[in-house]
Amino acid sequence: MSEIFLQDIHQPLTSLPGVGPRSRALLKHLVGEQVSDLLYHFPTKVVERKYFPSIRELIRCFATLPEGTTVTLCVHIDGFPETKHRGGPIRVRASDSTGYVDLAFFNSNPSYLAKKVIPGTTVLVTGRAAVYGGHLQISHPDYIGPTSTLKDFQGFEGVYPLTTGLSNQVVARVLSTALKQISEPLEWLSPEMIRKKNWPSWKEALNLLHNPQSPQDITPQSPARLRLAYDEILAQQLRLLLAREEPHLRQGRICRPTGKFTQLFLAALPFELTEAQNLACSEVRRDMGTDKRMLRLLQGDVGSGKTVVAFLSILLALEAGTQAAFLVPTEILAQQHFKTLSSWCAPLGIEIDLLTGGNNQAKARRILKEKTRNGEVQILVGTHALLEDDVEFKDLGLVVIDEQHRFGVAQRLKLMEKGPEAHILIMTATPIPRTLQLAAFGDMDISHIREKPKNRKPITTRILPIDRMEDVTEALRRPLDRSEKIYWVCSLVEESEVLDITAAEERCTFLRSIFGEEKVVLVHGRMKAQEKQEVMDKFIHSSAQILVATTVIEVGVDVKEATLMIIENAERFGLSQLHQLRGRIGRGDLASSCLLLYASPLTPVARQRLSIMRETEDGFRISEEDLKIRGAGDLLGVHQSGYDIYKLADLFEHESLLTMAQEEARFIVQKDPTLASERGQALRILLQIFYATKSLKYLLAG
Ligand code: ADP
Ligand code: MG
Repeated sequence: MSEIFLQDIHQPLTSLPGVGPRSRALLKHLVGEQVSDLLYHFPTKVVERKYFPSIRELIRCFATLPEGTTVTLCVHIDGFPETKHRGGPIRVRASDSTGYVDLAFFNSNPSYLAKKVIPGTTVLVTGRAAVYGGHLQISHPDYIGPTSTLKDFQGFEGVYPLTTGLSNQVVARVLSTALKQISEPLEWLSPEMIRKKNWPSWKEALNLLHNPQSPQDITPQSPARLRLAYDEILAQQLRLLLAREEPHLRQGRICRPTGKFTQLFLAALPFELTEAQNLACSEVRRDMGTDKRMLRLLQGDVGSGKTVVAFLSILLALEAGTQAAFLVPTEILAQQHFKTLSSWCAPLGIEIDLLTGGNNQAKARRILKEKTRNGEVQILVGTHALLEDDVEFKDLGLVVIDEQHRFGVAQRLKLMEKGPEAHILIMTATPIPRTLQLAAFGDMDISHIREKPKNRKPITTRILPIDRMEDVTEALRRPLDRSEKIYWVCSLVEESEVLDITAAEERCTFLRSIFGEEKVVLVHGRMKAQEKQEVMDKFIHSSAQILVATTVIEVGVDVKEATLMIIENAERFGLSQLHQLRGRIGRGDLASSCLLLYASPLTPVARQRLSIMRETEDGFRISEEDLKIRGAGDLLGVHQSGYDIYKLADLFEHESLLTMAQEEARFIVQKDPTLASERGQALRILLQIFYATKSLKYLLAG
């Protein structure tokens, strides 16, 4: 029974009657390839279905109708289809007791039409009406059928997100076919839950959302949506937990550090660790000391000093005689971490190396991989290149992942396989609100670094309209005189990187004309890694003091002398993003400031958002506000990262579901870790709706 169900929902869309190659391509673009993708494509709006007027009423109200309104008319077919002139449409005259309407068909087959519109019959016609030469016309009616079908044209209708070339009608029609084809699967939710919440079954819920009886039916709190949202969250939480229960993923190696590196390193460190850093370190040490694999998220606001904690964790692994890998999302960041860590490694006599996509010659890469394989390289820093199959470690004891939200769960699993018992430490600078934490990292233990190093001065934030450019350039003088460094971030025009670059180039030219050629450098996303690196080096080490950048100033770049951050079009950024950018300054003990420039006029909401930036430097508060305003997907940078969490569930609306689902998932995995029970079988179906069969085999194997 469940087998048949799964086959149905994983069928390609072409298996549905009425889906030809053309609509298949469009649907694929819109939703995906399988029936299940289509079923989870929901209306985002509900409109009163069709306007059912008399012809006279329609003509009278025509001017006031919203454009493109679909109307339904009940009409008598008066005349025979006939061609008026070559190339013109075939017109058929129809009427009711109040007036007449022309049905127009372009390029239609006359004999086909003759069967469809039969003179003397009364039919229902639906379509978009237009007025031509003073009388009413419907071109290519969507539907012509017997009057007994009227009930199908009343009530409400869901409006789907669409793509060019695909009408709402087609999507609705294909969906209705799909829904008919799908059988009700075994219920995977507990009967108590269903009863207590009074939720519909899975299929009933789908039916309701696709055939809403009122606008309320699709709101986030409607029982149907709650049910499906709960399904989705439960599936995701289960998947995270199951991955963790996998024997080969769960087993960790007991790490017995000798303390030799740690002591030397701490003695030479020019600052004291904060209490929060110390605590995080001891949590890591405790985790690594057990035979359960560590999976710990190190969460700390920008500038809170996560890198030192990561390095101290690495030292534990090295002291125990194993290797460590440090995975970072971008080349610049990899370079930077490599530099920092190298300077720490040198006095300790530790071998560290760097593997990125672009920077190594083939031969050098081969040698590097060989050294990694035979254990000569003790720490390997790198980008995605680390995930390649031929990167093998002799004995990997710890994996550190920086800025995790850019990597998906799949990549994490891949790294976990490289060191069968390696512990894992994931660092993120995005201060993730609790809700989101549970969702994205529900399976991890968490260390927070809330406190910043003591030497930090508060950052002054100001909000200015961009027309006050003179004030802005004036603000640059002081830090320039003091040999400090300045970031200037140009507008984010999300749709067009090219426009971004143009804006940045223009700004660079402008600033050079004021402060001199030497003082200003430019970095943007289209540059090669090598070029970017050269610019960054120049900014850090030469007399260049202003770095103009598109948003490529990577999270994590650490330049202590940077004291001024200018962000153009700040109103277009998300608050968390602004916070990340602002976190590039105030990293040493110099006083710093941030200028948020906006293009007038500023909407009240935008003004309110920006003033939050002025009020607080607390990343948690900022991200919470951001979540309220923008929704969860944006916060994690879905667009840049491809890391989307949910299709249907909304973390803000469904927070309570999340907590419930997490508890239930834990309970399930504890009782039935292989999903072997009857309910387990049903839960497998749930998982398969959301996750590719392949990854599940992997999760549930053994
Ligand atoms: P992030 O958490 O954003 O990755 P980093 O690890 O880059 O922060 O640290 C930011 C800066 O603060 C670095 O230059 C680092 O050397 C410095 N730092 C880290 N811990 C301390 C501390 N306890 N006291 C003073 N400075 C510190
Ligand atoms: Mg960092």
